[in-house]
Amino acid sequence: MKSYQQFINGSLVNSRSTEWIEVENPYTGEIISRVPNGDAADAHAALEAARNAQSAWASRSAADRAGYLKQMAALIRANRVNLARTLASEQAKILPLAQVEIDFTADYFDYYAGWARVYEGEIINSDSPRENILLFRKPIGVVVGICPWNFPFFVMARKVAPALLTGCTIVLKPSSNTPNTTFEFAKMVAELNLPKGVLNFVSGSGKTLGNALVTSPLTDMVTLTGSVEAGQDIIRASANNVTKVSLELGGKAPAIIFDDADIDLAVKGVLDSRVIFSGQVCNCAERAYVHKNIYEQFVEKLSHAMKNVKYGDPFAADVVMSSQIDKAQQLKIDEMVTRAKADGAQVVTGGKKADMPTGYFYEPTLLTACRQDMEIVQKEVFGPVLPVLPFSEYEEAIALANDCEYGLTSSVFTKNINTVMQSIKDLKFGETYVNREHFEGMQGFHAGWRKSGIGGADGKHGLMEYLQTQVAYIRY
Ligand code: NAD
Repeated sequence: MKSYQQFINGSLVNSRSTEWIEVENPYTGEIISRVPNGDAADAHAALEAARNAQSAWASRSAADRAGYLKQMAALIRANRVNLARTLASEQAKILPLAQVEIDFTADYFDYYAGWARVYEGEIINSDSPRENILLFRKPIGVVVGICPWNFPFFVMARKVAPALLTGCTIVLKPSSNTPNTTFEFAKMVAELNLPKGVLNFVSGSGKTLGNALVTSPLTDMVTLTGSVEAGQDIIRASANNVTKVSLELGGKAPAIIFDDADIDLAVKGVLDSRVIFSGQVCNCAERAYVHKNIYEQFVEKLSHAMKNVKYGDPFAADVVMSSQIDKAQQLKIDEMVTRAKADGAQVVTGGKKADMPTGYFYEPTLLTACRQDMEIVQKEVFGPVLPVLPFSEYEEAIALANDCEYGLTSSVFTKNINTVMQSIKDLKFGETYVNREHFEGMQGFHAGWRKSGIGGADGKHGLMEYLQTQVAYIRY
């Protein structure tokens, strides 16, 4: 069993805490590693290192900082196969998808390295003829990054890359379920000649280590990707110091399938979206609204496709889905489906834990006879479960899709360009996919409306999250 150390101030060090967190391979049930259950002392040491390193890091040129990002991308590529295997075993992500995540993460470091000579300040017209107004963009300072378990390696880069490029320093906490790829990366970073303290990785629980990082006066910004509940905790915890927060939280993405849609394309898109990484992806369709003229056909085709989903060992060549992340998640899904059934939902396929020798599997599940006010239609399930509801009119579909406390992503399937443009105008979500599902581009801007978050990540606007402005008025 592997044992990892904290990465603080440029070195792999023992935690101040003597407690450990065991990491389970969800497919085999085996304990595969342990990481420190870090405490407030670890948080303080990492933040102090980040604080001490920040001014010198910010005073380097952005192009110089970008050089380190490129080295990180190269290290990831050189170790891409081992990293993918580590990722697949710590979270039961099928190996091809784990490989995509590792490769995308390397590209992400390169992408943000490319911004070094691109981001800029502004010159603003003054009311006085003999005055210039200059707007500078400066790093926020010390960033705390807190990651979820579903895309642990990519989300790590989504925080580390823009933070370092802009001259911030960062302390990053991985999820206790999936710290291994991050700490394998820490071992690689320890071999780079990155200035000490610029990048720190510490493990521990959200409630203790996470809270200590968020409430510290050394912290200038907190960026969390996680649940709405964790986001709410962080808003409360950051109030005292009025610390900036950037929050990417849960979703309940609607897919609207109009009666002129390519049904096979829609079925494939929604199916892939529902079973990719066992339904544990924030931007994937969690509810579908299908025009009544094609409703029965859609349900029949989707249930047929769902019944044929092959699941099993994440390392097997022919599976598309594996175990849920842990027993608690499997139980949560099962309880939600049980309540939906008690509330009148009909199970077309699935509807129960899968009978497998190991792992925490849940059968791909299609539910009909659901009402808009049911929990299964309103709350994030984060499993391979899809309620499908019929609609008659365009306005009805849009109203049902918008009737939700989350506002992360949405999708529409139609061949009519007018319906495409009108629905983009009417849908109240940070992202809308047309005739396809999930996966945002690194050059876009991934940001949720309503309870799905504050701020966002990726592209130019994601970079701006890590910068603050200073305006100078220059008389001459
Ligand atoms: P989670 O909220 O349980 O945990 C996320 C991280 O927050 C963990 O590292 C955890 O230790 C930490 N944490 C929890 N409470 C904390 C607190 N009070 N103070 C400080 N840190 C705390 O989420 P999860 O189960 O790991 O991830 C799944 C959730 O993440 C889903 O809701 C999913 O939709 C969401 N998610 C959103 C996006 C997005 O881009 N919007 C991407 C991926 C996942």
